[in-house]
Amino acid sequence: MADKENKELREKLLFEKKNGAAKAGSEVLAAADEFCEDYKLFLDTGKTEREAAAEAVRQAKEAGFVEFENGKKYAAGDKVYRLNREKAVLLAVIGKQPVEQGVRIAAAHIDSPRIDLKQNPLYENDELAYFKTHYYGGIKKYQWSVIPLALHGVVCRKDGSKVTVRIGEDAGDPQFCITDLLPHLAAEQMRKGAADIIPGEKLNILIGSRPLDGDSGKDSVKLNIMKLLNEKYGIIEEDFLSAELEAVPAYKAVDVGFDRSMIGAYGHDDRVCAYPAFKAMFDCGVPEKTAVVCLADKEETGSDGNTGLASSYLEYFIHDLAEMQGGCGRRALSNSSCLSADVNAAFDPNFADVFEKRNSSLVNGGVVLTKFTGARGKSGTSDASAEYVAEIRSIFDNADIVWQTAELGKVDAGGGGTVALYVANLDVDVVDIGVPVLSMHAPFEVVSKLDVYMTYKAIKAFFEN
Ligand code: MN
Ligand code: MN
Repeated sequence: MADKENKELREKLLFEKKNGAAKAGSEVLAAADEFCEDYKLFLDTGKTEREAAAEAVRQAKEAGFVEFENGKKYAAGDKVYRLNREKAVLLAVIGKQPVEQGVRIAAAHIDSPRIDLKQNPLYENDELAYFKTHYYGGIKKYQWSVIPLALHGVVCRKDGSKVTVRIGEDAGDPQFCITDLLPHLAAEQMRKGAADIIPGEKLNILIGSRPLDGDSGKDSVKLNIMKLLNEKYGIIEEDFLSAELEAVPAYKAVDVGFDRSMIGAYGHDDRVCAYPAFKAMFDCGVPEKTAVVCLADKEETGSDGNTGLASSYLEYFIHDLAEMQGGCGRRALSNSSCLSADVNAAFDPNFADVFEKRNSSLVNGGVVLTKFTGARGKSGTSDASAEYVAEIRSIFDNADIVWQTAELGKVDAGGGGTVALYVANLDVDVVDIGVPVLSMHAPFEVVSKLDVYMTYKAIKAFFEN
């Protein structure tokens, strides 16, 4: 009998981590697989913050959202959006309670690490044409050479007109790349530290090699490229001064593994939380508290700038929602709560030594709840309160969410931040949740379909409570 009693005691008292996929069961896994088919399309459509913002708004309009108008009154169940400078999106479903009693916010970011063009990008060197770049976000630079790149973005002319560029994605499109040294001649390069293998100023994108037909002047390859760009886009070299052009991996999202349990793609961080966030909002019915989704830009460079979450646009939006009902925006914020939805580092058995396994997120462990982020002594964290974490725990368990907790790696190994602190600074209760990612910030990141789906279910349950 003692054995049986001990077993019961063990189950009652101890907290045991279980494989999420085994716990979820085949029906849930099938739902996860189906959910992720559309997520993969979203990744392929929205490879930059502008494209992800446009696609989120397109899907929102299809789901009945209308552009928020100041001075107009909206009733419970009304769906509104606001697009901030084409790079960040705010969505809301008006709840049954007054906004002043607080809103439920899910905040994710839609910018990803990439290679940006400099303002004077085009040059010719030894009869090859290149773009000069300045990388965006925290990358291992060597990972971005010798992969196919596509070019996305906008060129704004002095007359106010704007050209949209998206080349390297469609069948038959040319693609671009950053070259690397052949191993035969890399003896000295291979002795360098990984940060110096491809220094920032060598991240030059190869874009052409033929001189202009019949031309004998200097920089004829460059001139030929500019001629082609002028024919295709109607731009001149000077127009690069007011352009935002971003090189991103040219391939599409694919299933990974014989069991197709994972997705490999560029830009999971953080579209893998952005997509579940707005889908959860589309499916949450008429919530008690007004539901707000914020899809932010500039997280990867520190959330500064007027489209990053250190800016006031989320605060202004909630003020506008409250004031629309004659309420007080400041009180609305103080009564609000938020899931800051961003990725976490999945435990990688190949690099186990940088993780503390008891407090790491596992692939297929479900949505990760991260009480605090930060590096070396929690620096830069907003650290969710125990009270708020308990509330979220209860919401997740009541909705049968497969979830886990983690922090990002070993205490002194490094660390990272999210947008949580900027929302917390508005006097809002915030905790980080999101999807565990393998090879985070690499041009090909890997996530589990179950974890993506559980992030959707978790945000939906949060809105519905
Ligand atoms: Mn992120
Ligand atoms: Mn990131």
